[in-house]
Amino acid sequence: MAEEAIDYNNLSIHNQWDEICGQLKMEFGNTAFESWLKPLSVSSFDDGVMRLSAPTAFMKNWVLAHYSERIHKIWEHKNPGIKKIQVIVQNLQNTKDDSLIRKFPITPTPRDTFSVANAQTGNLSGCTTKFNPTWTFDNFVVGKTNEFAYVAARKVAESKDVSFNPLFLYAGVGLGKTHLMHAIGQYIQQNDPSRHVVYISAEQFLYKFVNALRYKDTAAFKEQFRSVDVLMIDDVQFLANKEKTQDEFFYTFNSLMEGGRQIILSADKSPNDLDGIESRLKSRLNSGLVADIMPTDYDLRLGILQNKAAQLGINIPQNVAEFLAQKISSNIRELEGSLKRIAAHSQLLSEREITLDMTQDVLKDMLRSIDRKTTIDEIQRKVAEYFNISVKEMQSSRRARNVARPRQIAMYLAKQLTSRSLPEIGRKFDRDHTTVMHAVRKVEELVLEDTSMAESIETLRRTLEG
Ligand code: ADP
Ligand code: MG
Repeated sequence: MAEEAIDYNNLSIHNQWDEICGQLKMEFGNTAFESWLKPLSVSSFDDGVMRLSAPTAFMKNWVLAHYSERIHKIWEHKNPGIKKIQVIVQNLQNTKDDSLIRKFPITPTPRDTFSVANAQTGNLSGCTTKFNPTWTFDNFVVGKTNEFAYVAARKVAESKDVSFNPLFLYAGVGLGKTHLMHAIGQYIQQNDPSRHVVYISAEQFLYKFVNALRYKDTAAFKEQFRSVDVLMIDDVQFLANKEKTQDEFFYTFNSLMEGGRQIILSADKSPNDLDGIESRLKSRLNSGLVADIMPTDYDLRLGILQNKAAQLGINIPQNVAEFLAQKISSNIRELEGSLKRIAAHSQLLSEREITLDMTQDVLKDMLRSIDRKTTIDEIQRKVAEYFNISVKEMQSSRRARNVARPRQIAMYLAKQLTSRSLPEIGRKFDRDHTTVMHAVRKVEELVLEDTSMAESIETLRRTLEG
């Protein structure tokens, strides 16, 4: 035990936490990770109890309710010495810097915070003032699929007064919504510095509002937005089913609109398709200009690759660019990621030349999973067929074992065979991410206990991968 304590209490605990963070990010998605998990840090470990510290009580409770169980499970798997996870509140700024306490940056990245464009910000305390300098209009490659959204965003940025209001941008993940919002913010900041621009993710809006409620300080919360000329709220879908926050948002929205201020919003769906958003709010969201960004096409992907390669200062041969543009079609973030990986490899391995072979080698995992290309729909279909139920039943709320079990298996396979996050999988089954998490765990147990179950799942996996 003493040996264990020494081992766990040194660097390795932090390495484990880093790895766990990587996995949590994959499971819960970037936004949730940045908001709730990244601010945690390892505080201490003794007697099997791992203490993580959170910067506020609110965050602590949220983590306990939504994430601690999962953290425990993953960590226990890596390190059986971990019996329990505790979350404590610790103001990291006041913590002395000893080597056991690793400080994660508590200042979130610009995309998740208020970005305040000028100095007269009054109550917007504790906020960063910078937009991501690489997300400008100049760096946004325009093609057929995003042209309309680009033109609308430029128009809003260039107009001295309010043009389309609100501007509502919607698109799937990684297709440029946040990029365009930052571009608008920077453009206004540079060309019309007297206008006060604020960018906030809906998640941060929720977080700040819930904190204001908790500390009975909603007046100050409202006050923050009074002097804003241009308000941007990113990823509005995050407010689904958060009634109180939606009410507050509705209030903020109306008062800014009445005051003739510009509002820009983004979401992953059109206003009408947003689930869990009050209809009066939906109709407000619809009342200005709604612009979507469609999935990329080949030409745009090629254009973006060439543009990003130039930005990174690397040379990629045409056949490599074409190969990537053809293969990696899901979103631009992944395309960019693959390019960065290739660049890093070529630079690290003494300027190894970028070729098609090298690309295929460096990206083999990614490419393999793309080639598999199993979709959740397909998984649902195959599993339903196998167990002789309908896909409708699988997605229904029925809890009878003969329906519930196949549903759990389908969720499990979706987690294993696709790169979808838990919430994304949940949505396909009309469930939330905790249900999926539970299903995955349940099936993991079953596979160990029940060989015929294990065989069924193996068969299904082979058919799906085949
Ligand atoms: P979203 O907010 O829609 O999920 P982001 O705006 O974060 O997507 O975009 C993901 C990544 O792809 C960013 O690094 C962004 O710069 C890049 N990107 C998206 N669209 C374009 C584009 N048209 N031109 C250049 N880069 C783009
Ligand atoms: Mg975004």
